[in-house]
Amino acid sequence: MHTAPRDLSRPPVAPSQGLRITPLGGIGEIGRNMTVFEHAGKLLVVDCGVLFPEDTQPGIDVILPDFTSLESRLDDIEAIVLTHGHEDHIGGVPYLLKQRPDIPVVGSQLTLAFLSAKLTEHNIKPVLVHVEAGGRHAAGPFALEFIAVNHSIPDGLAVVIRTAAGVVLHTGDFRMDQFPLDGRLTDLRAFGRLGEEGLDLLLVDSTNAEIPGFTISETELTPAIDQVFTTTPGRVIVSSFASHVHRIQQVLDASDARGRKVAFVGRSMVRNMRIARELGYLTVPRGLVIDYAKTRNLPPNKVTLICTGSQGEPMAALARMANETHEVRISDGDTVLLASSLIPGNESAIYGIINKLTDLGANVVHKGNARVHVSGHASAGELVYCYNILRPRNVMPVHGEPKHLRANGALAERTGVPTDNVLIVRDGVVVDMVDGVARIVGQVENDLVYVDGQTVGHVTEDTLADRRKLSAAGVLTVLAFLRSGTAELAEPLEYLHRGSVHGQDSLDNASRAVDKALADATRNKTTAGDQLEEIIATTVARSLARSSRREPVVIAVVLDA
Ligand SMILES: [Zn+2]
Repeated sequence: MHTAPRDLSRPPVAPSQGLRITPLGGIGEIGRNMTVFEHAGKLLVVDCGVLFPEDTQPGIDVILPDFTSLESRLDDIEAIVLTHGHEDHIGGVPYLLKQRPDIPVVGSQLTLAFLSAKLTEHNIKPVLVHVEAGGRHAAGPFALEFIAVNHSIPDGLAVVIRTAAGVVLHTGDFRMDQFPLDGRLTDLRAFGRLGEEGLDLLLVDSTNAEIPGFTISETELTPAIDQVFTTTPGRVIVSSFASHVHRIQQVLDASDARGRKVAFVGRSMVRNMRIARELGYLTVPRGLVIDYAKTRNLPPNKVTLICTGSQGEPMAALARMANETHEVRISDGDTVLLASSLIPGNESAIYGIINKLTDLGANVVHKGNARVHVSGHASAGELVYCYNILRPRNVMPVHGEPKHLRANGALAERTGVPTDNVLIVRDGVVVDMVDGVARIVGQVENDLVYVDGQTVGHVTEDTLADRRKLSAAGVLTVLAFLRSGTAELAEPLEYLHRGSVHGQDSLDNASRAVDKALADATRNKTTAGDQLEEIIATTVARSLARSSRREPVVIAVVLDA
C-alpha cells in the first residue's frame, strides 16, 4: 500500500495524455463524497455531498467539500455525475451550482428527483441529464457508462469513465444483496465484462471493508420487523433515513398486514416518500397513509409513524422525542423501531437517547437487539469478489475513515493488486494516472467548509474553538473605564458573566494582573482602545486559567470614564 505523505506540495501541471484524480471529500471521513477527474483540460465531478457535523462542531448545519481548487476552473466542468441520492453524495450540489448553475447534472431517475426537490428549495433550476443502468453518456472527453449497483437507496449507479488515458470504475456506495427487495442486483456481469476489457483504476467503497464476510440481505429483516408489528400494544414509531425507500416499503407492508395506518412525520420524509411513490419506487395500498393529525383519533395499536430529522437523518428526530421537544410524544406501550445504523459517530449519545426513550415507556428495538437493520455497504467478502472479478491495475479506496481505507487496501493486495498500485490518499491529494500507472503527485486546498444558517465558509476552526469554550466555560465580559487618552483605570474593573462562574479571589487576582499590565502599557505609551482591550482580555484569560483552571471566552470593553 502506498500512503500519501503528510506534507505534499502543489501538484505540477496536469499530464496532457493522462488522467488526474482529485478527491475533495469522502476520504478520511464518512460523508461529503466528491471526486474530480481531469483529462484534456476538462473536468468531471463525481458526487458532491455533505458531511454531518459532530458534537465538537456546535451550530453547524452541514459541512461541504472545499471547492477552492475548482474556482478558476468552473467553466471546464463538463458534468456532475451522481451515483445515488444520499445526502452525503448530493447534498453539496446546490452550493456548487450556485457558483455555476448550468453545469449538467447526470444521474438516475430517483437520484435526480431527490436532487430537484432540494434545488427547488435553493431556487436553482438545474440542467438535468437522466441516465439508466446499462446506459452511456458522453461528457466532453469523458465517455461514461453506468452500471446498476444495490445500496440502501434505490437506483444506485456505478460509473465507468473511459478516456484516452484508460478505463476507470467508481463504484459509488454499493453492496451485493443477492435477494434485494426490488430485484435490482449489483450488475456483476457488467463488472466481469469490465474485467475482461481491462480496468486501469478502481475507486471503491470502503465503509464496511473491516467487516468480515457478507452483508446480509434486506429480505432477512422481514421476520424481525413483522414481529415488532405483531407484538406492539401501542404505536410503532419507526425512525429511518428519509431516503431508505426499501426499508419504508417493508414497514408499509407490515403495517398494512396488521391493519395499522401509517403517517410520515418530518418534512424531508413526507417530500421523499411523495417523490418515491409518484415515480413508482414505493407501492402504497390505497388509504394506508394518512396525515399525522388524523392518527390521534385512532387506537394506538392501529398506528405506525415513520419519522426522520430535519436533514433527513434519523437521530435528530429521536433525540427530540427523547427530550420531549418533538411533536410525537412517546407513551407507554409504544415501540420505537430504529431502522438505521446505530453509530454515526457518537455511541454514548445514542445509548443515552435509547435510555431516555425507554424511561418514557417505549420498547426500543434496534440493530443491537434485533435483526431490524442491515448496512448498505459491501463487507470484506463482497469486496474481495469485486477485486477478483474486476482485476484492476490500480486501486484507490474511497468513502471511509483512514482505518476503512487501509482495510480495503489490504483486501486489494491480498487479491494480487501490486502494493505500489494501491493508493491510500486523503481529501485534496492529487493522483495522476499516466500509461496505466497511478501515482500521488501533490495536494490542493482541502478545508472543512462549514454551512451555518445562511453563511457558507464564514465559520472557521477558530469560531468553533470559541463555541466549544463557550459551552464548557461560558463568557466573561470585562468593562474597563479608563481616563481618556490613557491606559489608567478610573474605576475598578467590572465583570459581567454568562455561563461562567469564578470565585471572588480569582477575579481579584485577575484585576491585580490587569493593573500590572496597564502599568506596562502606560510605560510603553500604549493608549489605543483596541490594543488595550486585547491586553486586558488576554491578561484576564491567563489569570483565570492559572487561578481557577477555567478558560471562558473573555471579552474586554474599554470605555472613557
Ligand atoms: Zn449511500
